[in-house]
Amino acid sequence: MASLIFMYHDLTSDIASVPSGHRPYVLDATVFRRQICLLARHELPVVTVARWCAGFRAARTIVLTFDDGHVSNHDLALPILCEYGMKATFYVTAGFIGTGQTMNWGQIRALHAAGMEIGSHTMTHRPPSTLSDEELRYELTTSRDVLENGLGAPVTSISSPTGFFNPRMKDIAREVGYGALCFGQAGLAADTADPFSLNRIAVKRTMGQDKFEALLRFDRSAILRIKCRQVVPGFARRALGSRFYLPIRRALLGSFSSD
Ligand SMILES: [Zn+2]
Repeated sequence: MASLIFMYHDLTSDIASVPSGHRPYVLDATVFRRQICLLARHELPVVTVARWCAGFRAARTIVLTFDDGHVSNHDLALPILCEYGMKATFYVTAGFIGTGQTMNWGQIRALHAAGMEIGSHTMTHRPPSTLSDEELRYELTTSRDVLENGLGAPVTSISSPTGFFNPRMKDIAREVGYGALCFGQAGLAADTADPFSLNRIAVKRTMGQDKFEALLRFDRSAILRIKCRQVVPGFARRALGSRFYLPIRRALLGSFSSD
């Protein structure tokens, strides 16, 4: 038995207002609504990361996660999730709360009050591979303190910025007392999966409805294709190192067609 953890970022109702380099990660709210509607039609169980880790791992469970804490998580995703009675996990970069396009406390508390899980996406969103163990420990513990103080509730899961698997982050997340850590490595989350190394499938603009539906059928070849498309960028990152690879990747994202 296995589950699928989807990774979303921002939604928009006006893609023209989104900088072109960021567009691959931004989904039209209408597309998101269609996906949630499909999910409801498939009658698959949908739970938060915390609930999944607490043992809710029925066959073909779906987990919805959002990285970064963009205001559209509150303005566009929350009403759609509430309409369909679904819960999701929102990973917020604690050091950015209330700045730029990141949600403010009122919006984060509204998500939490609606039954959504709030998790950490570190303090500063720096790539874990560029940080010392001490810096990583700061990122993980301080972000949790900020979120727990602001919410008045425990924060038990975290997602890695940049998504790449990092063994030191995994060890430190466990050591400082988190219950789960999500990366962006494509793949299913097996029942027996290590909760500190959870795979996720990124839902990007290039993912058509047919591919999304294939994923809801847990079509192994659709999942394999997504995994294969991650191999080349993963190899390039390892060869170049995150510090050099990430700016190149960002520059390429405008024309990058991976999903
Ligand atoms: Zn992020």
